Amino acid sequence: MSKFKAIRIVKEPAYAASYSEFDDSELMEGDVTVRVSHSTVNYKDGLALTGKSPVVRRFPMIPGVDFAGVVEASSNPDFKPGDAVVLNGWGLGETHLGAYAQKARVKAEWLVPLPKEFSPAQAMAIGTAGYTAQLAVLALEKHGLTPARGPVLVTGAAGGVGSVAVTLLARLGWHVIASTGRPEEADFLKNLGAAEVIDRAELSAPGRPLGKERWAAAVDSVGSHTLANVLAQTKYEGAVAACGLAQGMDLPTTVAPFILRGVALLGIDSVMKPKAARLEAWARLARDLDLEKLAALSTTIAFDQVIETAEKILAGKVRGRIVVEIP
Ligand code: NAP
Repeated sequence: MSKFKAIRIVKEPAYAASYSEFDDSELMEGDVTVRVSHSTVNYKDGLALTGKSPVVRRFPMIPGVDFAGVVEASSNPDFKPGDAVVLNGWGLGETHLGAYAQKARVKAEWLVPLPKEFSPAQAMAIGTAGYTAQLAVLALEKHGLTPARGPVLVTGAAGGVGSVAVTLLARLGWHVIASTGRPEEADFLKNLGAAEVIDRAELSAPGRPLGKERWAAAVDSVGSHTLANVLAQTKYEGAVAACGLAQGMDLPTTVAPFILRGVALLGIDSVMKPKAARLEAWARLARDLDLEKLAALSTTIAFDQVIETAEKILAGKVRGRIVVEIP
């Protein structure tokens, strides 16, 4: 039997996360075993580590929804020992033992080969948040939107999804309006390519069903009143890609933007996204993401700093993306 380091979440006697050891025999079903080298901390990981939302649905659990690593053993012909791989979602850290561990055993169909353009650390600087930002950009493009139609708004801009979305959209030639509650991050956002930075307070309180048309497209990771106001200020036949709930899960809107302006609300889910769409998103990240900007928006932490980072990300105090080095 061989032991490996991991974060363990238990729910008895009280919900708690701690650094611990697991044994190989505790690993769940899967045809590929991966030596995990890097992970990250997404908003959802913050929810899982603290138990603030019921993300974890199996106990004990190893949290962590993203990893990069190297295949150690495989009974699937698609992967062989030594292959560099990435995994985002598919219930990792929710229903299946997750990423905050030296080892993971998973289904081959969940794995994506690490794109040659990225190191494992860069793949985790992207992580679920960055790959979701890319899915949102693809959704806007598939709706037919281009920079010629007008500005694009990014809410939660200094967060993970937001900072990658700003970077990608600016590179594609969009006039990016970044909405943030952290005015001190205005220079950071302009460095990533934002043309304008607005105060999120403009969008976060209950507003009118329709407002002045300000943007042709938006990437929203905030939800609630913010998303309602974003819809109300979207130009005729524009679209909003909704992927998050940092302000709240509610959506207190009216049908006015939809029936009077033909605005579209595009839902983005990254977790169960079929493999072909994942490969498309990773290929576009490899093509479009500026690696210097990716470095500028990410911070590296040690494995033993993950648990303390959970509260920070839920409090909106993490800037950009975090890379976790797994020893
Ligand atoms: P994050 O790094 O914490 O970013 C969220 C950002 O939202 C914060 O940095 C903050 O940006 C803003 N924010 C926080 N609290 C707010 C509030 N009360 N009101 C308004 N804005 C607030 O988290 P993330 O990992 O990027 O994830 C962002 C959201 O997307 C989360 O809700 C997450 O669950 C969701 N998500 C969904 C998917 C999917 O598959 N649909 C995938 C990834 C993430 P500023 O400081 O700049 O205002």
